[in-house]
Amino acid sequence: MAVKDKDKEKEKEKEKEKEADKEEEKPKEKVKEKPKEKSREDLPTEKELIGSNKEVSIIRLVDALVEHGFKARASDIHIEPEEDKVRVRFRIDGVLHDAFIFPKQLQSEIITRIKVLSGLRTDEHQAAQDGRFKIPMDDSQFIDVRVSVAPTYYGENSVMRILAQQAQAYTLEMMGFSVKDRERIERAIKTPFGMILCTGPTGSGKTTTLYTIIRILNTAEVSIITVEDPIEYSIPGIEQIQVNSRAGLTFASGLRSILRQDPNVIMVGEIRDEETAGIAVNAALTGHLVLSTIHTNDAPTTLPRLIDMKVESFLIASTVNIAIGQRLVRKICSDCKTKEKLTEAELKSLADLHSEKSWDQNVYYVGKGCKSCGDSGYKGRIGIYEVLEVDDEIRQAIVRRADASDIKKIAIKNGMTTMLEDGLNKASEGITTIEEILRVIHE
Ligand SMILES: [Zn+2]
Repeated sequence: MAVKDKDKEKEKEKEKEKEADKEEEKPKEKVKEKPKEKSREDLPTEKELIGSNKEVSIIRLVDALVEHGFKARASDIHIEPEEDKVRVRFRIDGVLHDAFIFPKQLQSEIITRIKVLSGLRTDEHQAAQDGRFKIPMDDSQFIDVRVSVAPTYYGENSVMRILAQQAQAYTLEMMGFSVKDRERIERAIKTPFGMILCTGPTGSGKTTTLYTIIRILNTAEVSIITVEDPIEYSIPGIEQIQVNSRAGLTFASGLRSILRQDPNVIMVGEIRDEETAGIAVNAALTGHLVLSTIHTNDAPTTLPRLIDMKVESFLIASTVNIAIGQRLVRKICSDCKTKEKLTEAELKSLADLHSEKSWDQNVYYVGKGCKSCGDSGYKGRIGIYEVLEVDDEIRQAIVRRADASDIKKIAIKNGMTTMLEDGLNKASEGITTIEEILRVIHE
């Protein structure tokens, strides 16, 4: 560690020298000259942000970053120190785009300002810190921002997540669930106990799916309690508990105390350890409907994963109602959508996917790119899903500890549409592109 620190010191010295050399030519290295990143078009230049006078207003600069991120529909603003500059990137519809490049000497001031805003220690540079802040927008609106600062080789990296004020009131249909999958979910919701599991990598929209189901369940007759990390949105009518590991409030201990509150429905942000898995299954067994997420790649893998977490296979078989696997894909921009014909080569690579999908007259769709989508051809996102309903045959497979591929085969035989098939259906309907499906499936 000490050696590393020394190296870092040296590196910093070098950087300072380099910066001193560059001081003169600085105004030239603005990004404006090379509008390589299409979504930049609507953004101001770095010069406009920093201002022309010698006194850079860091306060205004950080506010402006958040505002422009918000207006560009970014979910996250990354402030990434590099050797000789600071790169700012926006994540829009799940994909990062370059937004600004600032001179290296603004780095520490920007990070310090973000730390001050979110109540973090400004004298701490070697540890990761998390915080939150709000900045006012016009119309007495506020932008809610969750901050994560972490040390990296070239200094502290900061990611600001822009939180929507309220979860958009989606319906399962708006989220892209097919009629068949909606019926499966509705059946599982009507069961007064058991588990509904949602699975997929980080950023696949699992939480949004669970919130949507919670909203459907949220009536005056039922009591719903959640334990989350973090609470992404507050939902009127339900009790939400924030995990706080420093205070000893974990998913497991939170879940235990929830059970004493006599709820009907419980949502646990994530099942990631044996203890939480054990209590969740027990809760489901004793008359509660338990909703949670598990970090696996697809729906069938969820079941063996619970066995890995030391839950008895017969308990899994008798508690899990459905497992939902999902990914988010970008939607084709409706202003520049065009039809294309599949080439022989494309047809062959589609055939290699072993998909059942037939392509109507070999037509598919793409977005050519236009002003309204920042030339990306995409605007907004939608989910692709597989909803595995645990039926008798699957139950028997779980009890005999079948692996995920066996479970998957049974599920498909009994009518499950895989994420790939659901995605290709959406591509053939012109909602998204084939390319986008392949990108997220292989993630
Ligand atoms: Zn467009």
